[in-house]
Amino acid sequence: MDRALEDFTHPAQGRELKWDLKHGERVVREHLVHVEDPARMQLLDEMAGRFTECLRPLLPGLRLSVIHGDANDHNVLVDEGRAWMDPRDRRVTGLVDFGDAVHSYTVGEVAIAAAYVMLGKDDPLTAASHVVAGYHKALPLRKEEMAALYPLMGLRLCTSAAISAHQKKLEPHNHYLTVSEAPAWALLERLRRESTDLPHFLFRQACGVESVPGSRGVVRWLESHGHEAAPVVGRDVAGNLPVPLDLSTTPVHIFDLSVDSGEFGVAPEPEDVEGWTRTLFQRMETMDAVVGVGRYDEVRRWYTSDIFQAPAEGTPEWRTVHMGVDLFLPAGSPVFAPFDATVHSVALNSGPLDYGPTVILEHRVRPEGPHGSEWTRAGEAPMARTAPDAPEGTDLPFWTLYGHLAADVLEGLASGQRLAKGQRFASIGSYPVNGNWAPHLHFQVITHTLGREGDFPGVALPSQRDLWRALSPDPNLILRIPDPGSGSSAGRPPHVSPAAASPGKASGAPLADPSGSSVQEILRRRQEHLGPNLSVAYARPLKIVRGLRQFLYDQEGQPYLDAVNNVPHVGHCHPRVVEAGRRAMAVLNTNTRYLHDSLVDYAERLVATLPEPLSVVYFVCSGSEANELALRMARAHTGRRDVVVVEGGYHGNTSAMVDLSPYKFDGPGGEGPRPWVHKTLMPDPYRGPFRALPGEEAGRASTSAGSSAPALPSSSTAPSGRLRPWSRRGGETLDLEYLPMAELGPRYALQLRDVLRRMEEEGHEPAAFFCEPLMGCGGQIVLPQGYLAAASQYIREAGGVCVADEVQVGFGRVGTHFWAFEAQGVVPDIVTLGKPMGNGHPMGAVITTPGIAASFNTGMEYFNTFGGNPVSCAIGMAVLDVLDEEGLQENARAVGHRLLEGLRDLMGHHPLIGDVRGLGLYLGVELVEDPEYRIPATAAAHRVKERFRDFRVLLSTDGPDDNVLKIKPPMVFTLQDADRLISCLDRILREDWVRV
Ligand code: PMP
Repeated sequence: MDRALEDFTHPAQGRELKWDLKHGERVVREHLVHVEDPARMQLLDEMAGRFTECLRPLLPGLRLSVIHGDANDHNVLVDEGRAWMDPRDRRVTGLVDFGDAVHSYTVGEVAIAAAYVMLGKDDPLTAASHVVAGYHKALPLRKEEMAALYPLMGLRLCTSAAISAHQKKLEPHNHYLTVSEAPAWALLERLRRESTDLPHFLFRQACGVESVPGSRGVVRWLESHGHEAAPVVGRDVAGNLPVPLDLSTTPVHIFDLSVDSGEFGVAPEPEDVEGWTRTLFQRMETMDAVVGVGRYDEVRRWYTSDIFQAPAEGTPEWRTVHMGVDLFLPAGSPVFAPFDATVHSVALNSGPLDYGPTVILEHRVRPEGPHGSEWTRAGEAPMARTAPDAPEGTDLPFWTLYGHLAADVLEGLASGQRLAKGQRFASIGSYPVNGNWAPHLHFQVITHTLGREGDFPGVALPSQRDLWRALSPDPNLILRIPDPGSGSSAGRPPHVSPAAASPGKASGAPLADPSGSSVQEILRRRQEHLGPNLSVAYARPLKIVRGLRQFLYDQEGQPYLDAVNNVPHVGHCHPRVVEAGRRAMAVLNTNTRYLHDSLVDYAERLVATLPEPLSVVYFVCSGSEANELALRMARAHTGRRDVVVVEGGYHGNTSAMVDLSPYKFDGPGGEGPRPWVHKTLMPDPYRGPFRALPGEEAGRASTSAGSSAPALPSSSTAPSGRLRPWSRRGGETLDLEYLPMAELGPRYALQLRDVLRRMEEEGHEPAAFFCEPLMGCGGQIVLPQGYLAAASQYIREAGGVCVADEVQVGFGRVGTHFWAFEAQGVVPDIVTLGKPMGNGHPMGAVITTPGIAASFNTGMEYFNTFGGNPVSCAIGMAVLDVLDEEGLQENARAVGHRLLEGLRDLMGHHPLIGDVRGLGLYLGVELVEDPEYRIPATAAAHRVKERFRDFRVLLSTDGPDDNVLKIKPPMVFTLQDADRLISCLDRILREDWVRV
């Protein structure tokens, strides 16, 4: 629109309008008297002054044209988009209310729009950056205009607050006139504390130009003069002068402290300062290094303190990218000035994991080359380039920061003090005074101080990485540490200085952290060399590089709360389990043909968790393999071939297991049931034909764990057949039967009896009934109480055996019991185990009765190359130990209860939630288009899952209609995690796409 209006003229374009930013400051001042609160009056006065001052030198460079002048969210029309559930798909289709159109600064248009977008946001500047980037794409902004954006946005906020104060007096009941007032005040308060430069640089970054004007000049100077620098650190030699250490020749070891580092095995916790000190200094000793080096521009997972967390729209982002170089040396080691300097500031940053005592030095140098004085060009950097005693355009300032120093510097050094190149001015500090880190110097170069004193961010948000690289270029331009990882400069990222390529005494990681392939690159390579039917979670796929407890970390070090991976049962990479595997692997890995303690120890330990007569164990390597073996055993024992399975059930990925899994053979690409496979109705009390009487429904899911069913309503009339339910088989109408809760299980089991009768009539005899005691792929279905007892009875009467597939739900997950079948009060004939058994190490098992084991002993050897090997047994044993020692079954019960209650509470607010069910930490939330007809809301479920990912919580969808949110986290999930998940779902379901 502004492009179209560039040449537009109108006789009234020059009218006087109080919203016109040309008159911003005057309008604010004129309205100040209407602001009643003196503190607010002062805020407005101060901010309007600050913004006007920034703006004044830029005015000659601003274009003028007729603009709409009020592009706020009340004036924008938006269509629904093609995918109604995807807010990103919506398009602006119109703009209304041209009442503020006026001939003014063209850039004022985007400043006004962005000022509104910032209101009420956790991260207003990022929100504004999106608007700026979009506008710049359509109508490129000049550099002066980029600089004017932020002051204009600020002036708009001031104008809005000032005029609202007046209008409130004139029309106290007109709410619309003051809609922006409260958020505008809040935003102004917040911006008062912030730098005015950072927004300018962020907007330049959004426009794709050099984000920090002049930073290239500093880099150019350092590239040609960095080698003249004096050493920054040294060694204290008793009784003698300290020895400066030239890092280009001193033996150094470069640590890999990146988020996916494997250098330290099971590394100490980030907060374990003693552990880290020991680990790092021992490693330096082993590597014969005098100095340990922590890398620049490295994504780390150390920054766990709240100070590293930035507010963002529902998605916390952690500052993880290290913008300095760390030099690890004993506490007390000397620190020298690399160049002549003036002390800029000295401060104690005393927060946990902060810098402790910190110094910033200012250096002034003669700029290099033809563009050396670029930074002083009009409009480029009008703010806060402090060059008080230097003639404009001659001196190029930059700063160096020294963090984690010894406390004596706080007394010994003052700002303004001059230091000569090579002069010692501080010592490396120790914990806890240094912010509680292993002793080291954090050394950082700064091209613009952002007006800060004594402090400057040492780690940056990944989303602002380019900007921070410009604010803090590579300190190795000064330190000149050789790069052990790269022989030549070819292929190195540009920020690694050429000097780094010279051979020296460095060991360890390459200076530039090879962050691996991008998401797009991995997808492309997968397409080339991996089967096309391997699926990828999420429309925006995740690259995950580390797991810890209930968190997964992406390549930017950002944590995702894992609410879906039940395989890392006792937590991702549990140190106890990792250690057990590591030890065992270094000692022996062989097979069950040799005698070994671990095999029998582990078998006994597993059997001890099971009821009699389940006492004979066969070890395998996966759940599919376990079910395969169970099938062979059942057939050997009964001499029959046929099997009964539950609709929607899943038992594995091998040929026979796909044949046994309705989830697969009835699903896409499936070929329907084989003649030897017989399905029985899924015992789904929510969507199936037999349902609890309405008054009993709410407590249904939680009653299956063996607790008593709620009392029946005294006079209940079953509304049988009154509702028209949706059926998963394509909209056919079911006759519903409403029963007391306690009768549901037996009623569904009667369906199995009918199947067995039909089989008998057709001459089929069952070898087995395979059943998941809590159905997973079927949609997190809790079997109604009494189902398995009746079903087992029917199958046994028909001569078959009962196989409980515990692959998903065993090992304490259901909370009340160690095995899920126990919640149904039955003892199966065969139990199959898998997924959580090895916490991610591929393990499975079949456990059965001596009688069935004897039948299976047909003369054919049963040999499994990997099943039951000493490494697997050690790992499996460690998992059982951790489960016991950390009380994880009880945790699953308590946290699962909290989730169930919290999610059920949400049902009252969100009609999209049809059902909440589950046992322990195995839960499902079924989304339906309306609660009465229970039509599956598949698209919405997908959207909710994707939104959870945006908020950094991982879960999945499943069920025959893929409309059930699956929650099955590692067992270390906490009450706090449960609350986060619940409030996140609440927040997502309040979003406007749900209401459309
Ligand atoms: N049974 C059930 C109930 C399962 O959920 C699965 C895996 N999702 C399997 C068996 C197969 O296990 P695996 O993929 O380890 O072979």
